[in-house]
Amino acid sequence: MGQIVLQLPLDTIQQMKATYSRNEKPAPPGAIFSAKTPSCAITAYKSGKVLFQGKAPEAEADKWGSAPAGPKKPVPKSGVKDLKHPAPKGTAGPKPSVNDHRYAPAPALFASSHIGSDEAGTGDFFGPITVASVYVDQSQFALLKELGVKDSKLLKDDAIQRIAKDLMHVDLPYSLLVMRNERYNQLQQRGWSQGKMKTMLHHHAIQKLLAKIAPTKPEGILIDQFQLPSTYIKHLATEGERLQQNVSFMTKAESHSLAVAAASIISRASFVREMDKLSKQAGFTIPKGASAAVDQAAGRLIRTHGRQALPVFTKMHFANSAKAEKYI
Ligand code: MG
Repeated sequence: MGQIVLQLPLDTIQQMKATYSRNEKPAPPGAIFSAKTPSCAITAYKSGKVLFQGKAPEAEADKWGSAPAGPKKPVPKSGVKDLKHPAPKGTAGPKPSVNDHRYAPAPALFASSHIGSDEAGTGDFFGPITVASVYVDQSQFALLKELGVKDSKLLKDDAIQRIAKDLMHVDLPYSLLVMRNERYNQLQQRGWSQGKMKTMLHHHAIQKLLAKIAPTKPEGILIDQFQLPSTYIKHLATEGERLQQNVSFMTKAESHSLAVAAASIISRASFVREMDKLSKQAGFTIPKGASAAVDQAAGRLIRTHGRQALPVFTKMHFANSAKAEKYI
């Protein structure tokens, strides 16, 4: 079980409470709210301390604050700063624990021609991370709605596959990046957080898409927020990159922006295809997510293919690696 503790301002906690309203559960005494998502349980306390506990706590924690290490290691109580990447002196910028409203999208963006970017696979022990960026011209909004484009979390995998297939017949410029497990584990061992990997994948996907649609310029670029904008910018800087123009961030953006919704469908469909390939390779169905069924499947993988299969099939730093041991 991984655990991350963040110290967050109360306005951020109120924003979290609204974001997780669909997943809320009874809160313990002294808590502002509790919620359960597929990757972890979240409890926010009046002290400003927020606890993320579960199989993949970073999948949610990274959206709200930066934690210094992978999900196995608990963060010190005061640990909102990224210890591996301290900000250089004199470039402190905005406080990392405060969600920066300068990067919130203007409401007009949703109705204009824009790029949306989203990812899949980040909370799943098996399989890659996939990131899609999609440019939607406003003349295509009605067609996308007609095809059933909406938040992929509201759709079953077979519906996602069908809609993704339909989208391939629409003149919809997109770029799709897949970071397979071997690369993921290499970078993780080199000290990259999952947040940094996602940052660089989104950045490059957007870069490729901007080149593809040039000279057309989008009215804006919206990234489904998975960490604080300041952390995203800081990760870019560590690789000598800068935020493109007109980029905004928003949590649950796929329920407001058709471009992000299309990106969520294309990235999820790609993840599902990759999981099918891995299942074929393994000789049995590889489960999604990070549940106990996943621990069992990891045990089976080790029994049938040896431990050397783990870096090819899994995100090794997840707690599931250790839990697989009891199934060997
Ligand atoms: Mg997302």
